Amino acid sequence: MSHGFEPAAFKKSRACVLGLGKSGLAAASLLLREGFSVFGSDTRPAAQIKSGPALPAGLKWEGSGHGDRVLKCGFVVKSPGIPHSAQVIRRLEAAGIPVFSEVEVALAFCRAKTLVAITGTNGKTTTAALTAAIFARGLPGARGGKTHLCGNVGIPVSQVAGRARAKDALVMEVSSYQLEDSRRFAPRAAAILNITADHLDHHGAMAGYIEAKARVFREQGPQDWCVFNAFDPLTLKLSRRCPSRRLYFGPKGLNTHAWVDGSAIEAKLPDRPAASFPLPPLPGEHNQHNAMAAVLLGLSLGVRPAAIRSALRSFKGVEHRLEECGTMGGMRCINDSKATNVDSTLVALRSMPEGGAGGAGKVLLILGGLHKGSPYTPLKSLIARRVKCILTIGSAAAKVEEDLAGTVHIFPCGDLAVAVDTALKVGERGDILLLSPACASFDQFKDFEDRGDQFKELIKKRHQPPTTRPPWGGE
Ligand code: ADP
Repeated sequence: MSHGFEPAAFKKSRACVLGLGKSGLAAASLLLREGFSVFGSDTRPAAQIKSGPALPAGLKWEGSGHGDRVLKCGFVVKSPGIPHSAQVIRRLEAAGIPVFSEVEVALAFCRAKTLVAITGTNGKTTTAALTAAIFARGLPGARGGKTHLCGNVGIPVSQVAGRARAKDALVMEVSSYQLEDSRRFAPRAAAILNITADHLDHHGAMAGYIEAKARVFREQGPQDWCVFNAFDPLTLKLSRRCPSRRLYFGPKGLNTHAWVDGSAIEAKLPDRPAASFPLPPLPGEHNQHNAMAAVLLGLSLGVRPAAIRSALRSFKGVEHRLEECGTMGGMRCINDSKATNVDSTLVALRSMPEGGAGGAGKVLLILGGLHKGSPYTPLKSLIARRVKCILTIGSAAAKVEEDLAGTVHIFPCGDLAVAVDTALKVGERGDILLLSPACASFDQFKDFEDRGDQFKELIKKRHQPPTTRPPWGGE
């Protein structure tokens, strides 16, 4: 199966890797191992690149911008963050130098026959992790075959593609950036979870974003599969253009192949027996969608229902996504640091229980960070119903306070430590402290993982285990 990049066609030519981040470096290592000479180019200053992860031996490179040496290469591997409108891409195009995506290049060296790809605006990582758990328990027809989770989850496809064997499976999370650069991407099974406005600054307009998502199925054949979310109008509309076998999760009865009935997922693929699955132990309707997508991906490629059931039961979710992280002052604490936009925070609030009588059992919500441009007003009605107070942090605080004025009490806290301490003072037993900030993290943290880790650390320090009197009864 071709994925666009044909190594044999470029055998004697030099490769240029644009962007020396995680995936660029992994692509460079892979190409060097495969015998190519590789030149790396990045806009960051050399000192910054050197202070990052180790550069592969044999890599020649430049920092502080893309010089003329990139034009002396036979082909280019583009890191997903570099926009198509970047000057360097236009110069390469004008010079007739082909540009490939990191995923495409990686897959050209991959022997694994089972490729599964998951995309969508939200839920990719969770669904990819669950799908990988499903395949790990029941990769069909592959005794001893391994499942590799990779892609946007933080493990570049280049890192695993070279060592995957034919009997292995690759379960990939693919972002719209990665898809946008891929010409011949043809997974055996794919899923589009949902499509809402995000990253429009990069893609220019919604149409471009949707086109990028369509590339997950565009090159599939009639024997391949693609799973769609029938609850989501944009995904549903896009599915009409899909050339492979289509599967839908959605409301019961509307020609869907998976739906939720009570506490079970029911699934029925054409010409296969119906099967029933437990919901994974994760909060929120969104996670039911993610689970249905993973079930359909597993069933489509022949994973046994018993293996799928066992993976669902033991799935613990992914760190920083509505992650239960202990208690403090009788409050449940939940780390949803991955909620870097308003949509994600809406999803988190919808997953919270309605507040109990007298105000207790409600959410203390930490909001703020680096403002991403969209208003916080869509949160208003859920805040009114489920939130007791808001604790603001970061540079977006003033905007959050302005947009949400008149809903519930807002405590301007500045930073996370003050927010946690304020929650400890004002929260009651049975309340929930939720970090779901609706903002990027880069104003006060390295990234959202760092923000989530610091939150968990703060909770751990303030957690007081229930005291029991020492048996001797003394001080
Ligand atoms: P992604 O990798 O696409 O960013 P994640 O699995 O990391 O997705 O989840 C990120 C956030 O997106 C979660 O914290 C949750 O708020 C929201 N989310 C997860 N799954 C869904 C879904 N199916 N629909 C809508 N929002 C979701």
